[in-house]
This record gives sequence, structure tokens and C-alpha cells, in this order.
Amino acid sequence: MAGSQFAYVRNFELPDPVLPNVYMVVRIDGKGFHRFSDAHDFAKPNDGRALELMNEAARHVVQALKPDVVLAFGESDEYSFLLRRSCSLYKRRASKILTQIVSLFTSAYVFCWSEIMGKQEELKYPPTFDGRLVAYPTAKEIRDYFAWRQADTHINNLYNTTFWALVHADNADGLGERRAHETLKGTVSSEKNEILFSRFGINYDKLEPMFRKGTTIVWGESTPEEEADAEEDAAAGAGEGPMKSQEKEKGNRSRGAPELRTLHVDIIGKEFWTAPSEQPGRRVEKAAQHGAHSEGTEAWQDPRRVSSYQGLGLRALER
Ligand SMILES: [Mg+2]
Repeated sequence: MAGSQFAYVRNFELPDPVLPNVYMVVRIDGKGFHRFSDAHDFAKPNDGRALELMNEAARHVVQALKPDVVLAFGESDEYSFLLRRSCSLYKRRASKILTQIVSLFTSAYVFCWSEIMGKQEELKYPPTFDGRLVAYPTAKEIRDYFAWRQADTHINNLYNTTFWALVHADNADGLGERRAHETLKGTVSSEKNEILFSRFGINYDKLEPMFRKGTTIVWGESTPEEEADAEEDAAAGAGEGPMKSQEKEKGNRSRGAPELRTLHVDIIGKEFWTAPSEQPGRRVEKAAQHGAHSEGTEAWQDPRRVSSYQGLGLRALER
């Protein structure tokens, strides 16, 4: 083949490597998810199971591309994946990395649909995602990137929560959405909080952490390489079935493997990005504060998802 008269067309394939030693972020985004969420009756403003399906698909990506994907953050129909600076996947070819992540995420989303959404929920047509890859030179831009996405989560969620409270309360004539848009036009955060509290008795800060903070997926205390070694040791036995990242999330701590953490916590402030030793006394305080959510039964209400996350962002940057 190499010697055929047609082989010259290969020369039209131009290389597209990303600069060495910079961070890469791939952000995927649902295409036409307004229509998709309507067609599948997703609850508004937030559908917990649909968000958990996004989380599960993201866990597949992080697991499959370890140790290169070190951190992920998701909200609504989007997910961002951080690749470590030393990543040499596909010789750092942008198109290969981007398409691999988009493809893997999409197929995992479909693969896990009935497990997360329930067997009776039919997937009515194939969902699709687009993606982009952006390179960032330093840790500062990475922290700011994830802060930007989490700030966006808050802005959107506060708006949507207020919007749908108004619509659900007053939509007898089908014009509730128009009126809600009018009511909220030009309002600032404090005004939306006030509408929620005074008219609907909703304390925004008490809403599900997953809705307010989005979802952060990050490796726990030990490194992915250590886990790969531990798995190699353990995998000598029976062939494993399809990857169950939910099971892996819970982690088999007995053999000392690191775990993949799923968190709904603040990643704008210092705590996530600062080593625990530099934050005396904060660990206990934070864990106790979040104990209020421990009554929940859904996966995203697990109290472990809002505790003991100090410094995990810093570790991700250093991997
Ligand atoms: Mg979208």
C-alpha cells in the first residue's frame, strides 16, 4: 500500500499537535439538548438522574483515559476534562484526543442510559455531543477555567430554579414561561433569591449540592498509576465484564487502590486547590457542616460527595 501511486494523498493530512507541556481541556457539550430533554421528560429545572447519567459517562472517560485525564467538571449538558501536562496520548494530536473523548463520552452515555434512567425509560433517538480542545499554559488559567464553569453553573441554576418556580406556580393559560422571563429580566442574584424565598419558601442554599455546585470528578489520595498497578495485580483472575465505574467509585479500598471521587463542592475557593496541611482545622469543620445532607438516598446525596476534598485539585494539577 505504501508504494501505490495513490499514497501521495497521505501528504494532505497535516499534523495538529498541541504544544508540549501545557494543560489541555476538552469540553463536550450536548447538541440540541433542549429538544432532547423535552423528548425524554427531564424534570425542570434539574433532573437528578439525567445529571447522574452525565456523571457516569464522565467517569467512564476518566477511567478509560487514566492516568491522563486528571480532573473533570460537569453541569447541565456539558463536561470539561483536564489532561495533565505530560499527557502523550496520540502524540498530543488535538483531533485524535478530542474525537476520542467525545466518542467515548457519547457511547458511555448511551451504554449507561437504562442503568441510570431506568429500564422503562426508552432512549428515543441518539444523543450527540460536540467538543473543543483548548490548551492552557499555567495552573492559574486552569483554576480560573474551572471557576468560570462553576460560576456559570450557579448563575444558570439560580435563574432556572427561579424561572421554573414561577412557571409551575402560574401557567394555567400556558403563558407562564413568557411571564417568568419578563419577571426575571434584569434581576440580580439577591432579587432572585428573594423571589424564591418570599414567594415559594425556597432557601436556595439548601438545594441539592449537585444542582448548585455541579459535579467534580477527581482522583482521591493515591495516583492513577498506583491504581493501574493494583488492578493489574488483581486482574489476573476472571475476565471483568463491562466497566462499572459506579462500583469503582465506591472503590475497593482494601487493596489500597486509589478511588475516583465524585464531588459536589466549591472549586472556586482555595480549599480544593490547597494542600490540607496548609489549611489547619478546616477539614473537620467542612465535613461536619455538610452532614445535613446525609439523609438522602440518591447517589448524588451521598455525604461523601461533599466532604474531604481539600487539596484534590492541587494533586490533579501536579499529576
Ligand atoms: Mg448544549
